[in-house]
Formats: sequence, structure tokens, C-alpha cells
Amino acid sequence: MPQGPECLSTILVQPFQQAAPYTMPTGYCGQPYNHPSQGQTCAQSQQMQHSVVPASSGNNLGAPLHPIVSYPSAPGSSQYGTLRSSQIAAGQPPVPTLMQPPPTQSSSQQYPQGNGATPTPAHQGYGAAPLSQTATVNGQSNAVQQHYDQNLQNPMSHYYARAPPISEAPDRERAPSGTPDTSVHSSPRHHPRGESSSTTTGSASPVPNSYESLEGGSYPDLSAPPTGVPPKQAPPFGYNYPTMHPAYQQNPTPRTDSSPSHGGYNPPGYQQYSQPFPSLSELSSALGGLSSVPDLEVETLRPVNLLQERNILPPKRTPPPEPNLSNDLRKVNCSPDTFCCTLTNIPQTQALLNKARLPLGLLLHPFRDLTQLPVITSNTIVRCRSCRTYINPFVSFLDQRRWKCNLCYRVNDVPDEFMYNPVTRSYGEPHKRPEVQNSTVEFIASSDYMLRPPQPAVYLFVLDVSHNAMESGYLTVFCQSLLDNLEKMPGDTRTRIGFVTFDSTVHFYNLQEGLSQPQMLVVSDIDDIFIPTHDSLLVNLKESKELVKDLLNALPGMFTHTRETRSALGPALQAAYKLMSPTGGRVSVFQTQLPTVGTGVLQSREDPNLRSSTKNVQHLGPATDFYKKLALDCSGQQIGVDLFLLSSQYSDLASLAGVSKYSAGSIFYYPSFHHIHNPSQRQKFQKDLQRYLTRKIGFEAVMRIRCTKGLSIHTFHGNFFVRSTDLLSLANVNPDSGFAVQMSIEESLADTSLACFQAALLYTSSKGKRRIRVHTLCLPVVSQLSDVFAGADIQAISCLLANMAIDRSISSSLSDARDALVNAVVDCLTAYRANGSNIQPSGLIAPSALRLFPLYVLALLKQKALRTGTSTRLDERVFAMCEFKSQPLHQIMRIVHPDLYRIDNLTEQGALHLNDSVIPQPPLLQLTAEKLTREGAFLMDCGSVMYLWVGKCCNEMFVRDVLGCPNYASIPSSMTEIPELQTTYSERTRAFISWLLESRTFHPAFYVVKDDTSAKTSFFQHLVEDRTESAFSYYEFLLHIQQQMPK
Ligand SMILES: [Zn+2]
Repeated sequence: MPQGPECLSTILVQPFQQAAPYTMPTGYCGQPYNHPSQGQTCAQSQQMQHSVVPASSGNNLGAPLHPIVSYPSAPGSSQYGTLRSSQIAAGQPPVPTLMQPPPTQSSSQQYPQGNGATPTPAHQGYGAAPLSQTATVNGQSNAVQQHYDQNLQNPMSHYYARAPPISEAPDRERAPSGTPDTSVHSSPRHHPRGESSSTTTGSASPVPNSYESLEGGSYPDLSAPPTGVPPKQAPPFGYNYPTMHPAYQQNPTPRTDSSPSHGGYNPPGYQQYSQPFPSLSELSSALGGLSSVPDLEVETLRPVNLLQERNILPPKRTPPPEPNLSNDLRKVNCSPDTFCCTLTNIPQTQALLNKARLPLGLLLHPFRDLTQLPVITSNTIVRCRSCRTYINPFVSFLDQRRWKCNLCYRVNDVPDEFMYNPVTRSYGEPHKRPEVQNSTVEFIASSDYMLRPPQPAVYLFVLDVSHNAMESGYLTVFCQSLLDNLEKMPGDTRTRIGFVTFDSTVHFYNLQEGLSQPQMLVVSDIDDIFIPTHDSLLVNLKESKELVKDLLNALPGMFTHTRETRSALGPALQAAYKLMSPTGGRVSVFQTQLPTVGTGVLQSREDPNLRSSTKNVQHLGPATDFYKKLALDCSGQQIGVDLFLLSSQYSDLASLAGVSKYSAGSIFYYPSFHHIHNPSQRQKFQKDLQRYLTRKIGFEAVMRIRCTKGLSIHTFHGNFFVRSTDLLSLANVNPDSGFAVQMSIEESLADTSLACFQAALLYTSSKGKRRIRVHTLCLPVVSQLSDVFAGADIQAISCLLANMAIDRSISSSLSDARDALVNAVVDCLTAYRANGSNIQPSGLIAPSALRLFPLYVLALLKQKALRTGTSTRLDERVFAMCEFKSQPLHQIMRIVHPDLYRIDNLTEQGALHLNDSVIPQPPLLQLTAEKLTREGAFLMDCGSVMYLWVGKCCNEMFVRDVLGCPNYASIPSSMTEIPELQTTYSERTRAFISWLLESRTFHPAFYVVKDDTSAKTSFFQHLVEDRTESAFSYYEFLLHIQQQMPK
């Protein structure tokens, strides 16, 4: 029970079933708070109707039906039977349930069979990859903003003008974290010739009854009159291509030797089109390019003898390989930072893929912050009638009236509206529309894409206020951070906010506008949690802002002297679910220990003596399915749950993480958090919160990935729920989440020269707009094994492999996962040796494109997630696994293989000059102690952590001018930032570090590490090329690989 707060009225609420519903101990009601209205608030609260009415009953009557996510145990039979779907509780007829395989075996988390010591060809491999981010990202900010808008003063004519630069553009849809839009409005209402848009999807379409039909493939034929009967669930795309009407059937013409053109794309009649789609004319050259190998490819195929060539690390992070496409296609292709493939040359057949022994998969960062994004408002969102692909730069126009889908090859009509180009303000150039000029676009969606009207942004914070939590001091940091960022949280005038705190009981806060102060409601019956009042716990942020501020100012002090050590996290989460069910939204949970009372209780499962075990690690999976089931319930109600774990003790993250994994949430972990004793963690927590609270957010999202006919997606990685075969349900989507998918080749791609992939993310913006962000990636198809190797993106491959290994370590065992990683390298290098020509029989040879493969795999084996023999706390290991599964590629690669630079001697040689500042560019160093010297200072960038290691005999000028200390001995051991000194060295060093941080959304923890302190262990553990007691050095690993290869 909390201490009597200083300024809040508190009410103890008992379950309403009891005869005396509101037992209010005098200690909790009517305390003299020196406020005139006190008595009134108490009276008000006594009149409140406390009941366990399902949160959304009443709201949904007559509204479109929402899908219900089903899971194996029926709601009534689950251990928290009160969490049943609101529609059923409200007495509505059950809606058709979208069946989903049992979550534990759902395709979303399944590790493919056969990835063990002897991978089967069909699923062989692992993959991963990172991207370089940096200069090019920064460079984009200077790009010219394209902004097209209508001249409203002259509604009868189209007027689309280039808008002023970003800073002057209206910021109506600009997200706080900043993705300026390029918008194109094209509304037929203003069609000058008065043509009505007969092809508009408009309101004529039947109301879709599920997310499957929203984003999926089951719309009626657009040109046909609506039948009034909603279609049944569409067959999932990728598994069933409807038979086309003969008139539309455009079978690819067989490629002949005499015709260098790309067989499948040239239907008769295309040549007569006077203005061919520009890209199309380049297709043949793209194809031709494959036969004459360009220089770039020669370099990526150069055989490298790994045992001899030690300096294989490039001086800079290298960008992923460029797909071998024509310049025109390359120019419009999707950025690899958003969308990339492990193999930038797609093998023509599964047999060829098997030969290469490399994993085929995609890595996505679909909602990342963009500096430029074309936004299109159009009545008609043009999509393929057959597979529902959005029109994109890689379709072909047969003539002005017909376009051919690049994924399923169906020929579609070009709608009338599309004949007008809002950018050029001209007619008859459908191929110049922004949709076909940009591989990343965002559509403003019509009501066709909604199951219900867009909900407001709703944020609920669930805060641990037990003794342990108060000891850590996190609540003060959190409340201050939220106060600082309250105005910057994404949303509009409808935004709602609420708070729940918990220890052994659950506390709600009435923040209804008009109250003189926040009112605390304590629910002590945690076995059957209920919501004490319905309207005033999630309040309009704008209207109740002062009350919210009062609460945030009061909260840290309210529990300072609490002696309550127990934690009722499970009931608090159930309360959050009930509270949020009517609207959906985001729940942010802050937890500091194992949940010890109520449902969802967990026990300690970690044996500290086994932290260094070289054998298998136990308890990587959840101890209970409570958190996963709760997450699935949340997902069904469009609630995303983010978890912040701030804990010095084991808290069973393996179980807790389920609540975020399956509700598309984020997971943050601050081991040994203490607001005073661990300043570096406090800073990181503060900076993370700043980003977290202000970053863009999308609600009620679904994502579908489509690919060229013949390819199929079979395993998804990331935090989400797989709603149907291939539709990912994301209750929330944030710009910092990455996803990965594995693919196989079901049918030969011999009839096409290009393979395309399209990710469509449908979401509701924080301002209540339904939007669809579409990314399309185009890659060449190749028939030669050497081309497959040449296009291997080693960072993407390593990242996909890491995801697969994490799944494997949970579903099978850590040692299996580790073996599979080693085998991935052995198999690939064996395949290269067997098929390569001109390779020396001795040595360990890799094509240059894959020369970092053994190094990255060795680095993976030394990660906290996958290592053995080095002391690793179970929660830290599990968190590392969560990171691999949910971070974008470039972030993962920095974790796997950090960047090491010497920075005590930075010069201007080769420096970047950006905006009047000089950014030194020291070369990357190999991760080995051999590269360190006691005379130097070295910066290691591990993504979420940065270390500055200072050698004992470090240049005194550096110590003085950069660190601001008179000598080495006086450098404090707890230094966590570099002072701002007005010296050349300091400015150069800070410029370099800021430049490293610029493209990063989360701020890394920063540690200055002296050579003679115990902290140096954490620095040295990242030197992955060096031998440790339990792990190979890089050279030993190469020898190990060589031994494993068949002679
Ligand atoms: Zn299609």
C-alpha cells in the first residue's frame, strides 16, 4: 500500500461484487489535503459506477467487426479468464475467427527444419547483413524537398507547385522524429474536364471485415460493379494465383538466344507505345550486363586466401553490393537501408540457391525516419487486381491504358485518374506518376482501408512503484523525462494519456478535466482485476494537461518510503489491457524485478554457477505462456506493449519479453540501473526515453511482403504476430524496429530477368490518418553460381543467420545453434571451392564478397546471445537475443562487429567537410589487441555502447586537450562524457563522435575506460579476433573451418 500521498486523494476500491463495494479506510479517503474540494472529489468517486463491464461494449455496436485473434486455450479456460474478447463479452455474435497455428509453433517464430549440423539444401544457411549508414544518410538531408500540393484558390484547375524547402513546408503531418513528407494530391474532384472518377474504389466497395481483406488480396474486381456480397477470405498471396482471363494472359515469351531482350516483359504491342516506360527500355541492358561481368563483380569474385590475407577489413564500412541493374532501375530502386536482400543477385532456381549454400532472405526497416518521402493523396490507389501489388517503378506499361504487374504478370487497366500527372501537370503520362517514379511512397488511404474510424493516439504508462523500484530511482528520471517531452509526443488534439502504478496492488489515477487534483484509486483485489471507473483514467492530454503534470510531479514522492517489496505485474498488465481495449494504443511498462504476486508470477530460474557454462544454457524460453497470451490478446485489440526492464537482479526477461514480442512492442533493458551509482545507465535511460517518447508511431498496423511469382516467404523474424499466412500484425509500429524474412524459390525464375519484392505497411498515424507506406525492391535474376556469390551481401547474410540461430537456440539448443553457424561458413566455402575455377587447392579461399563471413560468424559466436564459457547473466543473454530479433541491420552489425578507431592522433587528412565542420575519418581497425598501443586512445563503437579506451602512456596532449585532465592518473574512472573544450583536438574528437552519432536514433552509453581498471574487461571482450579462454582467435577459427571442410 502506498504511503499517504501529499497532494492526491486516494481511494481504496474493493471489487464491486462485494456487499460493500467501496470500503474506504479513513486512511485513504478524506484525508485532510488542505484542499477545499477534497470532500467533493470523494463524493464524486463514490458515485462512480465501478463495474466490470467489458471495456468496449457499447462502443462497437454497429461498428465494423474486428478480427479476434484466437489462441489454443479458449478465453474462459485461460488462467486469466477475465481477458476475453470484448465483442463476445458484449453479446455480439462471434465474428469469424482468423485461425492461426498455435502460437508456439507459429510460422513467425519457427526455425526451419534442417539447419543443424547438416543443413538440408532447401533451408540451408543463415544470413545477415548490415548496412553502412553515415555520410549518405546525412547527405540526404540536403536533398531538395519535393512537395506537391493543390492550389486551393483555384479549385477548377490543377496547380501543383514545387513547395518551398522543408523548413517552410507546412508541418501538418510531420512527425516529431521528423520524416518530412513530399505530398502529392490528386483528387478527381478537381478534374478540369469534370470527368468523374469512375474507377474510384470509393465507398462502393463493401466494407472489409478483416485486416486480411484490408491489405490482402480479396477485393472484388475494381471494374466490376460491387455485388454487395463481401468476398470470402482471399487465398493468401503467393500461394494461389487466380487463373487469368485469356485476354489478359500474357505468358512470358520464351527467351531465345537471338533475342537479348528480357523475355517475359515484352508483350506484343509494347513496341508501338510511343512513350515507353523509361525503365523498361533498360531492362535488356540489365540482362545483357550479366553476361559481361562488370568490374565491380570481378572484384567481389576475387579469390581471397583467408589464411594469408590478414588485412581483410576495409578502411570504412562498405555499402552493400549494388544490384547489377541498369542505371535507370538503380536510380529508382529502394534504399538498402530500408529493404535489402542477402543475395543481391537472385538465383534462378532453388537448385542454384542450394548450390551456393547461402541463405536467401530480406531485411527490412520499413518505418525508419526518412528525410524525404513522397506522400500521395489520390482517390484511386492503383493495385494489381490479381495479387494486390501496389503499382511501382518496376511495372511495365503496355500502352497508356494497361500496365503489367511485375509480381504476378497480370495485365491491369490504368484508371482514368492515373492519366493525369500531378507532378508534371500533364495528361497521358501514367509512367511519370509519382507512384511509378519512387520505390518508397506513402499513400493517404481511404476508408476502404479502415476497419473502424482512426482512433486517437492513446498512451498508457504502467509503472512499478515497489520498494525495489524506488531504490533504483528510475521513477524520478521517468517523470522528469515525460514532463520534458509531454508536448512533443506524437498526436493531435485527441491524444489520450493515462497512468497505472503497481506494487502488491494496482493503482489508477483519475485525471478527469475539472478535478482540482489527480485522484488515486487503489484496487487491492488483484485476483480479478477490474477497472474502477471508465471515463476518467485515460484522459485527453490537452484538456487534462495540468493534472497530468501535477501527477508527474507528485509521483516520485508518493512512494519514497514504501516498504512494499512485492510486484503484481501480471494484474497490472491485465488492467492495462482492459483499459486500452476500446481504442488500442501503446502501453509502456516499467518493471524492476520478478513479478511475485498475482497472475503471471515468475520464479528465479538462473543458477549463477552456470553463467560460464560451456554446455547448454537453460531457460532461454518462457516459464509461462501468460505473457505471450496477454500479448496476443493485446494484439487483437491493437494494443502494443513496450517493456522497460531496469533491474539489478534476475527478472526472467525470457518470460517477460513475450508481452512485447507478440504485440509488436519494443524491449529496453538497463541492467544494474541506479540513478546515482550508475550515471552512464541513467544517461542512456534519459536519452532513450527522449527518443522513445517523441519518435513517430503508427497504430493498428499490418504489413505484408509480396514477391515475384515463384518466390515464397516462409519464416518471419521480429516483434509482431502473424495474423494469417503472411500478414504481420503490428499493433504499434515504430521507426526503430527491423524485420527479417527467409525465402525459398518454389518455381524457376528462368522466364524473368528481374525479381521484385514489395513491403506494404498499412497504419494509422498519430494524427488519425490512415496511411500505406510501400517499398519496392528490384533485383536481377541470375543463372550462374559465380553471379550468386558476387552479389552476396555479407552483412545481410550474417544478420539473417543471427536471427535463425537465436530461434534455433530456443527451439533446440545453444550448441545446435552454434554448430549451425559454423556449418554455414563451412558449407558455403566448400560450395565455392567445389564450383570455382582457378582456385588453389590449398588454403582457405573465399570470394572477396564473402571474405568477412568467417570473421562475422566468429563474432556472432562471441556475442552475449550465443557465447559459451564466458560468464553471462541469463537476462543479459536473453536481451541480446531480443536485440538481434528486432533491431535494424546496421544496428545489429555494430553490435556484432564494433567499429574500432584510433583517435588520439586525428588529423584532417581525408576528413569530411560538412557544414563548416571538419570531420576526421580515421580508418577502421581490426578488433584485436595487436592494434592497440599504450601510447594511444581508441574509440570502440558498439552501437548501443561506446568505449573510449585510454592507454597508460597516452599522449598527454590528448588527455589534457580532449579529456580535460592534467594527466592520466587524474582521469576519473567513472567518466561518461567528453567535456566541451575549446581546443583543436577536442573539437576534432567531438566532431567525429557527433558524426558517428548523427544517423543514430538511440544514444549509446559512453564509457571512458582506463587501461588499469576492471572496466577494461568489457572493452576487451569485443576484440573478437583475439583468443579467449573459451573461444578461438580468428586465425584458429579459420583453421577450424578448414579442418571441417571435406578434403
Ligand atoms: Zn499482380
